[in-house]
Amino acid sequence: MQDLPFSRRAALLALGAAAAPLLGACSASPSKDAAAPTPGPTTNRPAPSPTPTSTPTPTPKPSPTFTSDYKLPPIEDGMAPVVTRVITKQPVVFLTIDDGLAKSPKELQLLDQYGYPATLFLTKSAMGENPDFFKAFQKRGDHIQDHTISHNTSMVNASYEYQLGEITGMRDYIKTEYGTAPTLFRPPGGFYSNAMRRAVAAAGLKAIIHWECKANAGRMDYQVGNSLRPGDICLMHFRPEFEQDLAAFHKAQQAAGLTVVRLEDFIGA
Ligand SMILES: [Zn+2]
Repeated sequence: MQDLPFSRRAALLALGAAAAPLLGACSASPSKDAAAPTPGPTTNRPAPSPTPTSTPTPTPKPSPTFTSDYKLPPIEDGMAPVVTRVITKQPVVFLTIDDGLAKSPKELQLLDQYGYPATLFLTKSAMGENPDFFKAFQKRGDHIQDHTISHNTSMVNASYEYQLGEITGMRDYIKTEYGTAPTLFRPPGGFYSNAMRRAVAAAGLKAIIHWECKANAGRMDYQVGNSLRPGDICLMHFRPEFEQDLAAFHKAQQAAGLTVVRLEDFIGA
C-alpha cells in the first residue's frame, strides 16, 4: 500500500498550494437522507417469565491502553506540520467534533455511552453565547482546540495578519473561557497554506489537524478506501444529526476493530 496521505501532502507542499479537502467540511449538511429509525427485532413467542434480557445499550468498556508509536513532526522553517492521518501500527482511531453549533445534553451522554474520547475544534461564531456547554466535555478529559473566531472558510486567501488574528483570537478566547491553551488547529473548511502553517506556529500551536474520513448525514464518507484504518482522524460536527452520525461512526469503528483513543495523548500535543 502506498502512503497516500503523506505523498499527497508532500505534493501539495512542493506546489506551495493551498490544500483543499476532498471531503467537504463545515458546510450545511442535508439531514433528510439520514437513516430512518428502524423498529427493533420482534418475536411472536410469548415472553418467558422472568424476562431474561433488557434492551442492549452501549456501555463503555475499559479501553485498553496503547503505547504510541507516532511522533508529531516538529515545526520546520516556522511552519506547523499538517497531520491528515496518524501513521501507526496500533489499532486506534481518533474522533474530532467541530464548530459547536448544535448543543444538546444527549451529545455528551452518547459519547459517554460509547466510551469515546473526543477532540473539540470549536469556533466562537458557532458556539454562540453558551461556552459553558462545553465545560462538561472538558471535565471528562476532552480538549477544546482552535477552529478560529469567525469560521471564514476563505481565510486561506486572506492576509497572514488576518489569519493570525483569527487563530490567536480563538486561542485567547479558549484560554479565558476554559483555562487551558489550545495546542491544535483545524482550518475552517479544511483549506490551508504555508502562510497559515506559519500563523499556526506563530500562535504557539503545534499542528494543523486534517482528516480523511467523516461522519455526516448519518453515514461515513472516506477519502481513501471504504472503511476505517488504524490512525484515521474522523471528523464530525455538533449538528442536529449528531446521534445518527455517531452511530455511523460507531458501526464503522466496531467493524474495523479499532479503539477510539484521545488524539492529544497519542500524538503528544
Ligand atoms: Zn468547521
